[in-house]
Amino acid sequence: MTKNDKQYWETKTLAEMTADEWEFLCDGCGICCLQKIEDQDTGNTTISSVSCLHLDIKSCQCKIYCNRAFINSDCIKLTPDKLEQITWLPETCAYRMIHEKKQLEWWHPLISGSPGTVHSSGISIRNKAVSGEHVHTDDIENYLL
Ligand code: SF4
Ligand code: SF4
Repeated sequence: MTKNDKQYWETKTLAEMTADEWEFLCDGCGICCLQKIEDQDTGNTTISSVSCLHLDIKSCQCKIYCNRAFINSDCIKLTPDKLEQITWLPETCAYRMIHEKKQLEWWHPLISGSPGTVHSSGISIRNKAVSGEHVHTDDIENYLL
């Protein structure tokens, strides 16, 4: 490969990506799986440090990924169309970055070649989140970031 060869995430839009390409774009940070509270008056969403019940907070992987739509009706499956409406994805999210025509960072697994760099760089929620298994829904407002 020459330095002029471009990778798929540099040449394709999100809508043009295959299912596999779309999945590989996720950096595995787990930030989108933190629970959120929406202000009914303003519509603003605030993220907490409490994860979804179904997130393994060590690996930052969903424990029910293939069945998440059936098991967790609150789980939002990202699609290219939804990128326009969702306001709570972190600035580091690869889908958001590509949507905003930014370059992926060095720690993204597609750039580094290792799934570990999203954790070692401190981007992911590893060692920062509290599992939703241990926090009552009514207490989440005490964990807002
Ligand atoms: S915030 Fe974006 S990159 Fe991180 S886990 Fe969620 S979808 Fe993947
Ligand atoms: S069900 Fe899985 S993918 Fe959906 S929010 Fe929970 S941990 Fe994340």
